[in-house]
Amino acid sequence: MTMSSGRAYLAIPGPSVVPDRVLRAMHRAAPNIYSGALNDVGASVAADLCKLAGTKHHVAIYIANGHGVWEAALSNVLNPDDKALVLATGPFAQGWAGMAGSMNIDCQVIDFGNKNTIDMEKLAQVLAEDKDHRIKAVLAVHVDTGTSVRNDIPAVRRVIDAAGHPALLMVDCIASFGCDVFRMDEWGVDLMVAACQKGLMTPPGIGFVFFNDKANDLRNAATRTSAYWDWRPRATPENNSERFGGTAPTHHIFGLREALDMILEEGLPQVWARHEKLASAYWAAIEAWGQAGAMSLNIADPALRSHAVTAVSIGAPQGTALRDWVADHAGVTLGIGLGMAPAGDPAWHGHFRIGHMGHVNAHMVLGVVGAIDAGMKSLGIPHGRDGLIAASTVLARI
Ligand SMILES: *Cc1c(COP(=O)(O)O)cnc(C)c1O
Repeated sequence: MTMSSGRAYLAIPGPSVVPDRVLRAMHRAAPNIYSGALNDVGASVAADLCKLAGTKHHVAIYIANGHGVWEAALSNVLNPDDKALVLATGPFAQGWAGMAGSMNIDCQVIDFGNKNTIDMEKLAQVLAEDKDHRIKAVLAVHVDTGTSVRNDIPAVRRVIDAAGHPALLMVDCIASFGCDVFRMDEWGVDLMVAACQKGLMTPPGIGFVFFNDKANDLRNAATRTSAYWDWRPRATPENNSERFGGTAPTHHIFGLREALDMILEEGLPQVWARHEKLASAYWAAIEAWGQAGAMSLNIADPALRSHAVTAVSIGAPQGTALRDWVADHAGVTLGIGLGMAPAGDPAWHGHFRIGHMGHVNAHMVLGVVGAIDAGMKSLGIPHGRDGLIAASTVLARI
């Protein structure tokens, strides 16, 4: 007997669930790339992406995943030997720093650990020490998908301004875009990268670099940028071929158009509020389970937790055993632990992550909570009794 037949649920922090509406929008014959619907859709997608990002400025669209737009962003503003300051609160900032290092950008990484947010005093101190303004850019990750911390980006801006430092503020919103509140212009972010396969509910394959005029000034002065990564023709295209640097990602664009329609129909503030509510239900369940067991949230302060992903500690080897149980017996795939303990280290088995980004509703959350609860019972993992009750209590308070 198996209980896992039926619709499977990929509850990992990206790629996320693709709605049937998006799948249907992509299910079509190959479109003409030179004229017709695709041209209009390309322009409308760019306009709505800027609306979601809260910017009146520019977006360049790339056929790339998150790693691709990491490189695209860096290659437009930083030359070899330019200095960047990376504010690391988990493995994704470290990854962006690694990409920059491979491009011969001189990276100074401040590592705040795997359970913390950015220490603003430390940032202020490092900026104050940079008297001749060698630091050209400050790189931060809004939500680090490994640790599930949500950093206070407006506070980073305030510290840079208070230091009178001219560095560009570059932010990775790949995990948080369309899930957590983000207002690019209001928050003083100069450059932001995002991708389509998380909050935007579209299969992996397109990424975005949003940038303002200050960032574009650096682009105009940069010498290393290849014609392919150059954001200028992509952001102010004469045609779709310029917008996409060649053949458009045809079906992805139709899929993304549908996903943006879904977000705008629900309303972006409502989408943000739904993510916050569903995340709180998971937190309540995990805190209740932790009353009589080893389970705990990686980020202690609720104000610093992502609404798109939750990283959980449970003690090795239970994390892996639990992930395997819910996959085999309940049709739910949870995310592996990332960045909380090194992969391969036995402690690595003591963590898992739940993705709750994009096309997620209350019954999906309760289903995952119930599956985890059953898994812990079946495996004999000690846990508080009231996880499911705690989650449903949060969801009952509309
Ligand atoms: C997923 C993710 C990335 C990497 O994206 P890929 O599409 O896997 O290359 C980078 N940063 C953050 C914060 C992410 O969540």
